[in-house]
Amino acid sequence: MSNINQSGWRPTTPQAGEASDGTFTGNRALMLEEPLIFEIGSTETTGVDFDPPRAPAKAGGQGESARGSGLLLSQEHRLGNLTREKKIGLPGLSEPEAVRHYTRLSRQNYAIDLGLFPLGSCTMKHNPRLNERMARLPGFADLHPLTPVDACQGAFEVIHQLAHWLVTLTGMHSVAMSPKAGAHGELCGVLAIRAALDAKGEQARKVLLVPESAHGTNPATAAFAGFSVEDIPATEAGRVNLEALKARLGPDVAGVMITNPNTCGLFEPDMKAISDAVHAAGGFVYCDGANFNAIVGRVRPGDLGIDAMHINLHKTFSTPHGGGGPGSGPVVFSEALTPYAPLPFVEKQGDHFVLVEEETAGEHHASSFGRMVAFHGQMGMFTRALTYILSHGADGLRQVAEDSVLNANYILRSMEDVLDAPFAKSGPCMHEAIFSDKGLPEGFSTIDVAKGLIDEGFHPMTVYFPLVVHGAMLVEPTETESKATLDQFIGAFRSVAERAKGGDLAIKTAPHFAPRRRLDETLAARKPVLVYKEPQRAEAAE
Ligand SMILES: *Cc1c(COP(=O)(O)O)cnc(C)c1O
Repeated sequence: MSNINQSGWRPTTPQAGEASDGTFTGNRALMLEEPLIFEIGSTETTGVDFDPPRAPAKAGGQGESARGSGLLLSQEHRLGNLTREKKIGLPGLSEPEAVRHYTRLSRQNYAIDLGLFPLGSCTMKHNPRLNERMARLPGFADLHPLTPVDACQGAFEVIHQLAHWLVTLTGMHSVAMSPKAGAHGELCGVLAIRAALDAKGEQARKVLLVPESAHGTNPATAAFAGFSVEDIPATEAGRVNLEALKARLGPDVAGVMITNPNTCGLFEPDMKAISDAVHAAGGFVYCDGANFNAIVGRVRPGDLGIDAMHINLHKTFSTPHGGGGPGSGPVVFSEALTPYAPLPFVEKQGDHFVLVEEETAGEHHASSFGRMVAFHGQMGMFTRALTYILSHGADGLRQVAEDSVLNANYILRSMEDVLDAPFAKSGPCMHEAIFSDKGLPEGFSTIDVAKGLIDEGFHPMTVYFPLVVHGAMLVEPTETESKATLDQFIGAFRSVAERAKGGDLAIKTAPHFAPRRRLDETLAARKPVLVYKEPQRAEAAE
């Protein structure tokens, strides 16, 4: 193990423009440099020591074959002509090497358990450990989706109770629990809208109107579900232009998809008027409720005339997310859309919970459009969300909304003298504050502020989104941050913004202290290198 290359230790030389504090290892004290696993692992080594598989007894043969020929025989018997003929080429590591590799990589990640994560619209808030404790109870965690209904009444009670809370908090008629993420919930909602229109013989309604202030998943969902998507412009104040929307309504319009609070962090005050106009014109109203944490306990979407809305349990109700999941996006429905909602759903009959898997004539879901998933949805997320709801209670949930809005406004008012805040004059924001790159000197942009924040130890905010604000910086502090943490973030954010405004060139090459320096993100997005290729011999010999 003294071989330098094999253990992945390579001396680093400072790159051009970098301070000459390079170390032999590339490590910087506790910040450990880590190569790719392909660079440190060898295809010739392995961390496990299994006996070769033994051959099955041959009918009429001599029973177990000798060990040496066992491998060959068993492959022939069990894999037929699918036996692998070439080496797979995966790098092997010993157990301690493998543990260190992944632990080192994990330390290069930013995480909500390390610090504030101000990504706009993502609601990266603290996930209480109590939720985790409950989700790990074996009766929930080890449940097989095909367990007989009688043997998992407790799990169905969790689903049923959570469904009750969601319907109550939103003032809606029913809920589909199975969608597995926000965007999946959007698809569920618009499929129900399609089914309801088709049932009325309104196949000609093919257009979904999506305001500019909507989340990017909204037009993507509408297009995926076969609708054609038309933009509705935003007003100067960052809201849906009601007159433009009314003017576009007609017999070809299936409905609207509105994000509320919208992606400028603003409440749509015309929501009821929008719903009334859309209904009068024969359409349905979809609301993107991913940002429900801003209004939970304060506003009931059902009172605003909404027909379908998804709720991101992994945002509002604090189940862990990021890194690709898992999510959970239940969809609440109005009375008009309920017959078309997907199956299955859990119903209480007397003391017993039953799983309704077929359409039932006359009952709700009579004309269900089908299923979103094979089974019931994300049980682990349901358990966490219900734990969160019960531990907060109704008053605690209202405080969630109040604190999320208070925290965002604290950031808005603490930054508006340094950064342009395009909607600050039109009143308070909701759960997130938005800034623009107006006022930064020539050659400096939003990206420089974001990268500067990395050196300060913060994950950057959402940048260049929403598109209605030039060089947008969208900051969602969430309700779980203390004033002390917010003050520290504001200090860093102000410092970085002031350096950018002052033309500090060092910020144009930030981050300086991160494991990787500034990357060519356009190239990485346009031409991603997804397959590892062995370096050429000449390079390897360097
Ligand atoms: C996060 C988010 C979504 C998408 O949710 P996923 O669970 O990531 O699919 C949709 N709309 C808004 C406003 C969001 O913030």
